[in-house]
Amino acid sequence: MTDEQIYEKDARDYLPVFARYKIVLDHGDGVYVYDTHGKKYIDFLGGIAVNVLGHNHPQLVKAVADQAGKMIHCSNLYYTQVQADAAEKLTKLSGLNKVFFGNSGAEANEGAIKLARKYAHSIGAEKSQIITAIHSFHGRTIATLTATGQPKYQEGFGPLPEGFDYVPYNNIEALEKLMSNKTAAVMLEPIQGEGGVHVPDSAYLTKVRELCNKYDALLIFDEIQTGIGRSGKFFTYEKFGVKPDIVTLAKGLAGGVPIGAFIASDKVAAVFHAGDHGSTFGGNPLACAAANVVLDLVGDDKFLNNVEAMGEYMKSRLEKIQKKFPDLVKEVRGMGLILGMELTKPGRDIVNSCLEKNAIINCTAGNVLRFVPPLIVTKEHIDEVCDILEEVLPEFK
Ligand SMILES: *Cc1c(COP(=O)(O)O)cnc(C)c1O
Repeated sequence: MTDEQIYEKDARDYLPVFARYKIVLDHGDGVYVYDTHGKKYIDFLGGIAVNVLGHNHPQLVKAVADQAGKMIHCSNLYYTQVQADAAEKLTKLSGLNKVFFGNSGAEANEGAIKLARKYAHSIGAEKSQIITAIHSFHGRTIATLTATGQPKYQEGFGPLPEGFDYVPYNNIEALEKLMSNKTAAVMLEPIQGEGGVHVPDSAYLTKVRELCNKYDALLIFDEIQTGIGRSGKFFTYEKFGVKPDIVTLAKGLAGGVPIGAFIASDKVAAVFHAGDHGSTFGGNPLACAAANVVLDLVGDDKFLNNVEAMGEYMKSRLEKIQKKFPDLVKEVRGMGLILGMELTKPGRDIVNSCLEKNAIINCTAGNVLRFVPPLIVTKEHIDEVCDILEEVLPEFK
């Protein structure tokens, strides 16, 4: 089948909710993907922070193949060792106590919101307010798009669930003003991803934690994008020295096999009993076998130190590019391998130009180039992408 025939089929049969780039991908290998013509692209989007081990990592492929040969799925009415192992790894890495597996980020957050509400109601009937940040992104289900502090994701989908309020990110005064004993939870990304790679001041999250303690409100960190080693620590909250009551994960957790999770402290998790939550697919053996490989490899200090080093290297290269194009590049920000380059104009055409030169990068929030590559990138990979970026930027000056 030709690419044109695939585009035609897609236009006819697939819900047109994605603004897709016109390439048809066929397979991947490490940090590279190949289209149907065998053209090779360096992939610095990594399935949007999903392919943390790159494409076709041999250990991940083997674990998934072996598990598929044994048992792809079984119901959560029974036990499996792979699920017990994955949960143990996550409690050890997080310092929290109880894990629940779903299938996506939105589902992880949905579960966290349910748990927070039930916990808060156990304290007081009036305690239900959930505060999130403007420019946040928490998912596409009705509750999580309500948590998402961006009207464009909410328009047309009302009536939305009650009890969500929004504050500017990284603004402790605004949060302090809004919080009260009615606050059930504050839910934040430790670095805003979709919203444009916004890193908060180092003291902000500490102060948020203090306010949550003061009002007996839960702190939920959405680490769906920033977790799994992305920032150079397994969880980005470790970078800030602040521990949440609930943390959510998804994207990179199983290296590309769909999975999501929330992890809670014992104190909070204790309000959930048999029947309070569930999932048919969540934490099935295939997904957990994949997650176990990711958790073993990415949870290792050496691996994480390398992410940190590669992040610093890439950031310094992006800063050099900024100096070269001061009218076009407003700011470079980020931590580890979640990096953003804010432009003074929309970025989509730059992404397209990079694609023509065989580099997959991403633009978010309209004018922020976002780099969330596989965590296995080397300096050579980083140079390859930065060289391409430097080549295409002059035409946009
Ligand atoms: C991607 C993302 C989500 C939603 O995850 P899905 O798997 O698409 O439902 C939620 N929160 C954050 C921070 C994300 O980056």
